[in-house]
Amino acid sequence: MKMSQLFTRTSKNVPADEVSKNAQLLIQAGYIHKEMAGVYDYLPLGLMVLEKIKAIVREEMNDLGSQELIMSTLQRQELWEKTDRWDDEKVDVWFKSKLQAGGPIGFGWSHEEPITDMMRSFVTSYRDLPANVYQFQTKLRNELRAKSGIMRGREFVMKDLYSYSRSEEEHQKFYDAVTESYLKVFERVGLGDSTFVTFASGGAFTQFSHEFQTITDAGEDIIYLDRERKLAVNEEVYTDDVLSQLKLDKSKLEKVKAAEVGNIFSFGPVKAQQLDLYFTDEEGQQKPVILGSYGIGITRLMGVVVEHFADDKGIVWPEAIAPFTVYLARLGTDVEVVKAAEKLYNDLTQAGVAVIYDDRDVRPGEKFADADLMGIPYRLVVSSKTIADKKFEIKSRTGAQPQFITHEEVIKKLAPVAGGQV
Ligand code: ATP
Ligand code: MG
Repeated sequence: MKMSQLFTRTSKNVPADEVSKNAQLLIQAGYIHKEMAGVYDYLPLGLMVLEKIKAIVREEMNDLGSQELIMSTLQRQELWEKTDRWDDEKVDVWFKSKLQAGGPIGFGWSHEEPITDMMRSFVTSYRDLPANVYQFQTKLRNELRAKSGIMRGREFVMKDLYSYSRSEEEHQKFYDAVTESYLKVFERVGLGDSTFVTFASGGAFTQFSHEFQTITDAGEDIIYLDRERKLAVNEEVYTDDVLSQLKLDKSKLEKVKAAEVGNIFSFGPVKAQQLDLYFTDEEGQQKPVILGSYGIGITRLMGVVVEHFADDKGIVWPEAIAPFTVYLARLGTDVEVVKAAEKLYNDLTQAGVAVIYDDRDVRPGEKFADADLMGIPYRLVVSSKTIADKKFEIKSRTGAQPQFITHEEVIKKLAPVAGGQV
């Protein structure tokens, strides 16, 4: 893509009404636009990152054998009453409205109830199970505080997966497989080293749920971390009893701030009993289906990546989720320079490398500052000087020194990164 075609612009000014680093940088670099506190629009660059994160998550969910769908945002009161979660006293993040034709509706803050009810149309026998489905869905939550930028939205994208099993054993096997998949997701988006499985409070059925917590000062949670065992305990369940159950040594635990990027949860048979999802087993017995619920905060994850890697110059995207792999900066308007830059742009694009080509007639310093602010993994420079040397200047976003390499070397170096062909 050519920079001259991009309708968004970067800004040098830190937005005055944003306290979080992720929102400040994403707004300044033109990835998102703020509608109001906790509500953001995703502009072309932001959407590219979101779609890349979603593609990674989608691959891992499909690998689990899960099937993608999209549930409606509008939800029925009766379903949530069956589980006692309609009342604002019980769930304090509901957005609700009324149909003109009469009757209340809720805007989906979660989907366990409607998905489980939908499953009643398809699950009657043990032959219909196990089943699991997932979606990328925009959740609406009337959050009281929204000061963490896109890490806590009133409208945000979640990947939620729901599993339906015949027995606790079948459920546990899938639950463990999801845990592995989640760890792969966080590894692939670059947060593997700082994301930990964390024991947190469970519900009516289980003692614990499991969170995936990424260490960051921007996080809203406190966890106690055993780095060696790659395991943590959320402060909400941090008691001597829990520590001894988990065989964790208090003196070895680090207290750190973290952000919950994922959460997995077992409902046992409870949800199915409440919503009347039963199946007939091989002996002809009626049994409630065992339900698991598994979330990843897609937009929160994007915010956490920004918080985690950003430096004083701006965003630093890991290659796997960067909107573009290369920022091609053309310095000056010399005929030869323009020719070489265009050729490099075309050749790289053909090789499958995602390039943002800065073809604007602005000062070099401005181009470099934008390349840094936008967080593009590589910066390529074409100038009369590089042309005289028959080389291009290449620098990684966080590298100190540029290198000078030929046209062929540039293609060779970058094409495999993007999975393209030389
Ligand atoms: P939190 O404890 O942060 O309020 P939660 O426990 O209510 O989150 P879940 O209902 O388990 O969250 O949702 C699954 C995932 O969705 C969370 O792990 C988190 O990554 C993400 N998430 C939850 N609330 C928000 C929000 N308001 N904005 C962005 N992401 C969110
Ligand atoms: Mg939570």
